[in-house]
Amino acid sequence: LIQIMTPLNFLGVMYREIRQALVDMDEMFNLLEQPAEVTDKPGARSLEVSGGEIIFDQVKFGYDPERPILKGLSFRVPPGQRVAIVGSTGAGKSTIGRLLFRFYDVTGGAIRIDGQDLRDVTQESLHARIGVVPQDTVLFNDTIGYNIAYGRNDATQAEVEAAARAAHIHDFIAGLPLGYDTQVGERGLKLSGGEKQRVGIARTLLKDPPILILDEATSALDTATESDIQGELNAMGRGRSVIVIAHRLSTVADADRIVVLEDGRLVEEGTHEALLARGGRYAELWSRQSLDEDLAA
Ligand code: ADP
Repeated sequence: LIQIMTPLNFLGVMYREIRQALVDMDEMFNLLEQPAEVTDKPGARSLEVSGGEIIFDQVKFGYDPERPILKGLSFRVPPGQRVAIVGSTGAGKSTIGRLLFRFYDVTGGAIRIDGQDLRDVTQESLHARIGVVPQDTVLFNDTIGYNIAYGRNDATQAEVEAAARAAHIHDFIAGLPLGYDTQVGERGLKLSGGEKQRVGIARTLLKDPPILILDEATSALDTATESDIQGELNAMGRGRSVIVIAHRLSTVADADRIVVLEDGRLVEEGTHEALLARGGRYAELWSRQSLDEDLAA
Protein backbone atom coordinates (compact mmCIF):
# COMPACT_ATOMS: atom_id res chain seq x y z
CA LEU A 1 0.00 0.00 0.00
CA ILE A 2 2.82 2.33 0.85
CA GLN A 3 4.26 1.75 -2.61
CA ILE A 4 1.00 2.85 -4.15
CA MET A 5 0.41 5.73 -1.79
CA THR A 6 3.77 7.38 -2.19
CA PRO A 7 3.53 8.20 -5.89
CA LEU A 8 -0.03 9.35 -5.37
CA ASN A 9 1.08 11.56 -2.57
CA PHE A 10 3.83 12.90 -4.78
CA LEU A 11 1.29 13.62 -7.49
CA GLY A 12 -0.78 15.45 -4.93
CA VAL A 13 2.14 17.70 -4.12
CA MET A 14 2.86 18.25 -7.81
CA TYR A 15 -0.75 19.06 -8.47
CA ARG A 16 -0.76 21.63 -5.68
CA GLU A 17 2.41 23.19 -7.05
CA ILE A 18 1.04 23.34 -10.57
CA ARG A 19 -2.18 24.82 -9.32
CA GLN A 20 -0.21 27.40 -7.35
CA ALA A 21 1.70 28.26 -10.53
CA LEU A 22 -1.59 28.78 -12.33
CA VAL A 23 -2.77 31.03 -9.55
CA ASP A 24 0.43 33.03 -9.90
CA MET A 25 -0.03 33.22 -13.63
CA ASP A 26 -3.57 34.41 -13.17
CA GLU A 27 -2.26 37.03 -10.79
CA MET A 28 0.35 38.05 -13.33
CA PHE A 29 -2.24 38.49 -16.05
CA ASN A 30 -4.35 40.38 -13.60
CA LEU A 31 -1.50 42.71 -12.86
CA LEU A 32 0.33 43.07 -16.12
CA GLU A 33 -2.26 42.84 -18.83
CA GLN A 34 -5.47 44.61 -19.36
CA PRO A 35 -8.42 42.84 -20.88
CA ALA A 36 -8.82 43.76 -24.53
CA GLU A 37 -12.10 45.57 -23.95
CA VAL A 38 -10.42 48.39 -22.03
CA THR A 39 -8.89 50.79 -24.53
CA ASP A 40 -7.75 54.39 -24.45
CA LYS A 41 -10.33 56.95 -25.50
CA PRO A 42 -9.43 58.91 -28.63
CA GLY A 43 -7.53 61.93 -27.37
CA ALA A 44 -7.01 60.42 -23.90
CA ARG A 45 -4.68 62.57 -21.84
CA SER A 46 -1.86 61.71 -19.53
CA LEU A 47 -2.89 61.38 -15.88
CA GLU A 48 -1.49 64.28 -13.86
CA VAL A 49 -1.06 63.45 -10.21
CA SER A 50 -0.64 66.36 -7.82
CA GLY A 51 -1.81 65.26 -4.37
CA GLY A 52 -3.01 61.80 -5.30
CA GLU A 53 -6.61 62.03 -4.12
CA ILE A 54 -8.61 58.93 -5.08
CA ILE A 55 -12.39 59.02 -5.28
CA PHE A 56 -14.76 56.11 -5.83
CA ASP A 57 -18.04 57.78 -6.66
CA GLN A 58 -21.10 55.50 -6.63
CA VAL A 59 -19.09 52.78 -8.38
CA LYS A 60 -21.00 49.87 -9.84
CA PHE A 61 -19.29 46.85 -11.28
CA GLY A 62 -19.71 43.11 -11.92
CA TYR A 63 -17.52 40.69 -13.86
CA ASP A 64 -20.75 39.25 -15.15
CA PRO A 65 -23.57 41.73 -15.82
CA GLU A 66 -25.98 39.32 -14.13
CA ARG A 67 -24.02 39.38 -10.91
CA PRO A 68 -23.14 42.83 -9.54
CA ILE A 69 -20.15 42.88 -7.17
CA LEU A 70 -19.97 46.59 -6.33
CA LYS A 71 -23.38 48.18 -6.01
CA GLY A 72 -22.75 51.90 -5.68
CA LEU A 73 -19.56 52.13 -3.66
CA SER A 74 -18.31 55.54 -2.58
CA PHE A 75 -15.19 56.36 -0.59
CA ARG A 76 -12.29 58.79 -0.73
CA VAL A 77 -8.58 58.43 -0.15
CA PRO A 78 -7.31 61.89 0.81
CA PRO A 79 -3.88 62.82 -0.64
CA GLY A 80 -1.07 60.94 1.11
CA GLN A 81 -3.37 58.90 3.32
CA ARG A 82 -3.69 55.19 3.88
CA VAL A 83 -7.11 53.64 3.55
CA ALA A 84 -7.67 49.97 4.33
CA ILE A 85 -10.51 48.05 2.72
CA VAL A 86 -11.90 45.23 4.86
CA GLY A 87 -14.81 42.87 4.49
CA SER A 88 -15.51 39.18 4.26
CA THR A 89 -14.02 37.02 1.53
CA GLY A 90 -15.66 37.71 -1.80
CA ALA A 91 -16.88 41.15 -0.71
CA GLY A 92 -15.03 42.76 -3.61
CA LYS A 93 -11.85 44.08 -1.98
CA SER A 94 -9.43 42.90 -4.65
CA THR A 95 -11.88 44.08 -7.31
CA ILE A 96 -11.38 47.63 -6.03
CA GLY A 97 -7.66 47.35 -6.79
CA ARG A 98 -8.32 45.95 -10.27
CA LEU A 99 -10.74 48.78 -11.06
CA LEU A 100 -8.29 51.43 -9.85
CA PHE A 101 -5.68 49.94 -12.17
CA ARG A 102 -8.41 49.92 -14.83
CA PHE A 103 -8.31 46.29 -15.79
CA TYR A 104 -12.02 46.76 -16.15
CA ASP A 105 -14.25 49.78 -16.58
CA VAL A 106 -16.92 50.56 -14.04
CA THR A 107 -20.47 50.04 -15.23
CA GLY A 108 -21.84 52.91 -13.17
CA GLY A 109 -20.44 55.89 -11.30
CA ALA A 110 -16.81 56.91 -11.68
CA ILE A 111 -13.33 56.56 -10.26
CA ARG A 112 -11.27 59.75 -10.22
CA ILE A 113 -7.67 60.51 -9.34
CA ASP A 114 -7.06 64.19 -8.64
CA GLY A 115 -10.31 64.97 -10.41
CA GLN A 116 -9.55 62.97 -13.57
CA ASP A 117 -11.90 60.17 -14.54
CA LEU A 118 -9.85 57.03 -15.20
CA ARG A 119 -11.67 56.58 -18.51
CA ASP A 120 -10.28 59.91 -19.77
CA VAL A 121 -6.60 59.18 -19.21
CA THR A 122 -4.17 56.89 -21.01
CA GLN A 123 -3.62 53.51 -19.44
CA GLU A 124 0.10 53.92 -19.81
CA SER A 125 0.11 57.07 -17.66
CA LEU A 126 -2.26 55.47 -15.12
CA HIS A 127 -0.11 52.36 -14.76
CA ALA A 128 3.04 54.45 -14.47
CA ARG A 129 1.64 56.30 -11.44
CA ILE A 130 0.22 53.37 -9.51
CA GLY A 131 2.42 50.81 -7.81
CA VAL A 132 1.00 47.42 -6.91
CA VAL A 133 2.52 45.19 -4.30
CA PRO A 134 0.62 41.95 -4.90
CA GLN A 135 -0.03 39.13 -2.49
CA ASP A 136 2.48 37.03 -4.25
CA THR A 137 5.14 38.77 -6.29
CA VAL A 138 5.66 37.07 -9.63
CA LEU A 139 9.29 36.33 -10.35
CA PHE A 140 10.46 36.06 -13.92
CA ASN A 141 12.98 33.41 -14.88
CA ASP A 142 15.82 35.88 -14.97
CA THR A 143 18.31 37.43 -12.57
CA ILE A 144 17.26 38.91 -9.26
CA GLY A 145 18.58 42.27 -10.49
CA TYR A 146 16.32 42.09 -13.54
CA ASN A 147 13.39 41.18 -11.32
CA ILE A 148 13.90 44.25 -9.14
CA ALA A 149 14.39 46.57 -12.11
CA TYR A 150 11.37 45.09 -13.90
CA GLY A 151 9.33 47.97 -15.28
CA ARG A 152 12.25 50.40 -14.98
CA ASN A 153 14.62 49.16 -17.65
CA ASP A 154 16.58 52.38 -17.44
CA ALA A 155 17.44 51.92 -13.75
CA THR A 156 21.14 51.99 -12.93
CA GLN A 157 22.79 49.33 -10.77
CA ALA A 158 23.13 51.94 -8.01
CA GLU A 159 19.38 52.63 -8.11
CA VAL A 160 18.58 48.91 -8.04
CA GLU A 161 20.82 48.47 -5.01
CA ALA A 162 19.35 51.48 -3.21
CA ALA A 163 15.86 50.04 -3.67
CA ALA A 164 17.04 46.62 -2.48
CA ARG A 165 18.61 48.20 0.60
CA ALA A 166 15.39 50.05 1.44
CA ALA A 167 13.49 46.76 1.07
CA HIS A 168 16.08 45.05 3.31
CA ILE A 169 17.04 42.46 0.76
CA HIS A 170 20.38 43.87 -0.39
CA ASP A 171 22.46 42.00 2.20
CA PHE A 172 20.82 38.72 1.26
CA ILE A 173 21.53 39.33 -2.44
CA ALA A 174 25.07 40.53 -1.84
CA GLY A 175 25.73 37.30 0.08
CA LEU A 176 24.86 35.11 -2.93
CA PRO A 177 27.84 33.90 -5.00
CA LEU A 178 26.52 35.62 -8.12
CA GLY A 179 24.92 38.55 -6.28
CA TYR A 180 22.45 40.49 -8.43
CA ASP A 181 23.19 38.14 -11.35
CA THR A 182 21.71 35.15 -9.51
CA GLN A 183 19.01 33.40 -11.52
CA VAL A 184 15.67 33.19 -9.72
CA GLY A 185 12.23 31.88 -10.58
CA GLU A 186 11.20 28.34 -11.37
CA ARG A 187 14.53 27.40 -12.92
CA GLY A 188 16.71 29.31 -10.50
CA LEU A 189 17.05 30.03 -6.83
CA LYS A 190 13.77 29.59 -4.98
CA LEU A 191 13.03 32.57 -2.78
CA SER A 192 10.97 32.38 0.39
CA GLY A 193 7.65 34.19 0.63
CA GLY A 194 9.28 37.01 2.58
CA GLU A 195 12.14 37.37 0.09
CA LYS A 196 9.72 37.47 -2.82
CA GLN A 197 7.73 40.18 -1.09
CA ARG A 198 10.88 42.18 -0.57
CA VAL A 199 11.67 41.89 -4.29
CA GLY A 200 8.16 43.23 -4.89
CA ILE A 201 8.75 46.11 -2.49
CA ALA A 202 12.11 46.96 -4.08
CA ARG A 203 10.52 46.83 -7.54
CA THR A 204 7.82 49.25 -6.42
CA LEU A 205 10.26 51.58 -4.66
CA LEU A 206 12.23 51.81 -7.87
CA LYS A 207 9.08 52.74 -9.76
CA ASP A 208 8.39 55.41 -7.13
CA PRO A 209 4.66 55.86 -7.81
CA PRO A 210 2.54 58.48 -5.98
CA ILE A 211 -0.27 55.93 -5.52
CA LEU A 212 0.04 52.45 -4.07
CA ILE A 213 -2.18 49.41 -3.94
CA LEU A 214 -1.06 46.93 -1.32
CA ASP A 215 -2.77 43.60 -1.76
CA GLU A 216 -1.99 42.11 1.56
CA ALA A 217 -0.72 38.56 1.70
CA THR A 218 -3.27 35.99 2.76
CA SER A 219 -0.66 33.28 3.17
CA ALA A 220 0.96 33.69 6.53
CA LEU A 221 4.63 34.56 6.68
CA ASP A 222 6.31 33.86 9.99
CA THR A 223 5.46 36.52 12.54
CA ALA A 224 8.88 38.16 12.67
CA THR A 225 9.20 38.41 8.87
CA GLU A 226 5.66 39.65 8.66
CA SER A 227 6.14 42.48 11.11
CA ASP A 228 9.41 43.49 9.38
CA ILE A 229 7.70 43.53 6.02
CA GLN A 230 4.78 45.42 7.48
CA GLY A 231 7.26 48.05 8.65
CA GLU A 232 8.77 48.28 5.17
CA LEU A 233 5.34 48.58 3.58
CA ASN A 234 4.42 51.31 6.04
CA ALA A 235 7.63 53.19 5.30
CA MET A 236 7.00 52.88 1.57
CA GLY A 237 3.51 54.32 2.02
CA ARG A 238 4.71 57.56 3.57
CA GLY A 239 3.95 60.51 1.33
CA ARG A 240 1.85 58.37 -1.02
CA SER A 241 -1.85 57.65 -1.24
CA VAL A 242 -2.32 54.02 -0.31
CA ILE A 243 -5.18 51.57 -0.64
CA VAL A 244 -4.60 48.46 1.44
CA ILE A 245 -6.63 45.45 0.34
CA ALA A 246 -6.75 43.85 3.77
CA HIS A 247 -7.47 40.15 3.88
CA ARG A 248 -6.71 40.04 7.60
CA LEU A 249 -7.53 42.68 10.17
CA SER A 250 -4.31 42.53 12.18
CA THR A 251 -2.50 45.00 9.92
CA VAL A 252 -5.17 47.64 9.39
CA ALA A 253 -5.39 49.11 12.87
CA ASP A 254 -3.00 51.96 12.05
CA ALA A 255 -4.61 52.95 8.73
CA ASP A 256 -5.82 56.56 8.57
CA ARG A 257 -9.22 55.24 7.65
CA ILE A 258 -10.88 51.87 7.34
CA VAL A 259 -13.63 51.18 4.83
CA VAL A 260 -15.86 48.22 5.66
CA LEU A 261 -17.37 46.58 2.61
CA GLU A 262 -20.39 44.37 2.67
CA ASP A 263 -22.49 43.12 -0.20
CA GLY A 264 -20.87 45.57 -2.60
CA ARG A 265 -21.49 48.64 -0.48
CA LEU A 266 -19.72 50.63 2.19
CA VAL A 267 -21.33 49.83 5.53
CA GLU A 268 -18.93 51.61 7.88
CA GLU A 269 -15.97 53.93 7.69
CA GLY A 270 -13.62 55.37 10.29
CA THR A 271 -10.51 54.78 12.32
CA HIS A 272 -9.92 51.50 14.09
CA GLU A 273 -10.79 53.05 17.47
CA ALA A 274 -13.92 54.78 16.21
CA LEU A 275 -15.15 51.61 14.50
CA LEU A 276 -14.51 49.48 17.58
CA ALA A 277 -16.35 52.01 19.75
CA ARG A 278 -19.27 51.92 17.33
CA GLY A 279 -19.76 48.22 18.00
CA GLY A 280 -20.93 47.47 14.45
CA ARG A 281 -19.75 45.23 11.65
CA TYR A 282 -16.05 46.04 12.05
CA ALA A 283 -16.14 45.38 15.78
CA GLU A 284 -17.79 42.06 15.01
CA LEU A 285 -15.15 41.11 12.40
CA TRP A 286 -12.44 42.17 14.82
CA SER A 287 -13.72 40.13 17.73
CA ARG A 288 -14.25 37.13 15.53
CA GLN A 289 -10.73 37.36 14.14
CA SER A 290 -9.30 37.73 17.63
CA LEU A 291 -11.26 34.68 18.66
CA ASP A 292 -9.92 32.73 15.67
CA GLU A 293 -6.40 33.70 16.68
CA ASP A 294 -7.05 32.61 20.25
CA LEU A 295 -8.39 29.29 19.04
CA ALA A 296 -5.43 28.81 16.71
CA ALA A 297 -2.93 29.62 19.46
P1 ADP B 1 -12.28 39.81 -1.98
O1 ADP B 1 -10.96 40.38 -2.41
O2 ADP B 1 -13.06 40.72 -1.11
O3 ADP B 1 -12.16 38.44 -1.38
P2 ADP B 1 -12.84 39.77 -4.84
O4 ADP B 1 -12.82 41.20 -5.23
O5 ADP B 1 -11.63 38.95 -5.18
O6 ADP B 1 -13.19 39.64 -3.28
O7 ADP B 1 -14.07 39.04 -5.51
C1 ADP B 1 -15.38 39.54 -5.41
C2 ADP B 1 -16.31 38.60 -6.15
O8 ADP B 1 -16.03 38.64 -7.53
C3 ADP B 1 -16.18 37.14 -5.74
O9 ADP B 1 -17.47 36.60 -5.67
C4 ADP B 1 -15.38 36.52 -6.83
O10 ADP B 1 -15.73 35.17 -7.00
C5 ADP B 1 -15.76 37.34 -8.04
N1 ADP B 1 -14.64 37.43 -8.98
C6 ADP B 1 -13.39 37.85 -8.70
N2 ADP B 1 -12.62 37.87 -9.80
C7 ADP B 1 -13.40 37.45 -10.82
C8 ADP B 1 -13.20 37.25 -12.23
N3 ADP B 1 -12.02 37.50 -12.80
N4 ADP B 1 -14.24 36.80 -12.95
C9 ADP B 1 -15.43 36.56 -12.39
N5 ADP B 1 -15.70 36.73 -11.07
C10 ADP B 1 -14.71 37.17 -10.30
